[in-house]
Amino acid sequence: MIFMINYCWNVVQINGNKMTIKKTALNKDKLNQIVTDARRNQELREQSYRGQALKLYPWICGRCAREFTHTNLTELTVHHKNHNHDDNPSDGSNWELLCLYCHDNEHSRYEESRFGSSKSSVSNTPTASHNPFADLKNLLNSKK
Ligand SMILES: [Zn+2]
Ligand SMILES: [Zn+2]
Repeated sequence: MIFMINYCWNVVQINGNKMTIKKTALNKDKLNQIVTDARRNQELREQSYRGQALKLYPWICGRCAREFTHTNLTELTVHHKNHNHDDNPSDGSNWELLCLYCHDNEHSRYEESRFGSSKSSVSNTPTASHNPFADLKNLLNSKK
């Protein structure tokens, strides 16, 4: 993000007073191009580490041991053990194959450990034992 802001600023400075509407449009295109390139690079990088991880490890979720084949491989994700997506050692030491659900779990646990247990304390309130269908039944009965 900081890089993008610096880039915009540089473009404006270089063109100075000579900047025309046409040039602005071109710069905007150029900026879009850079954003697109950055996105594509990220996608390529993701694909490459995913591909490498899928070659290195058996297609099994590291948490629930669910097995995967070509047909459901999209549900198998590559998790970064240290949660740094830029850390991709080729020996695969930072990767772990997890199914979508366990991957979600892993990240919510990580967020909780980072930002305190406010989320889990909410879910531990007595309302957890409350039966939502009790109200519904009363509501249906009252309509009769
Ligand atoms: Zn799993
Ligand atoms: Zn992950």
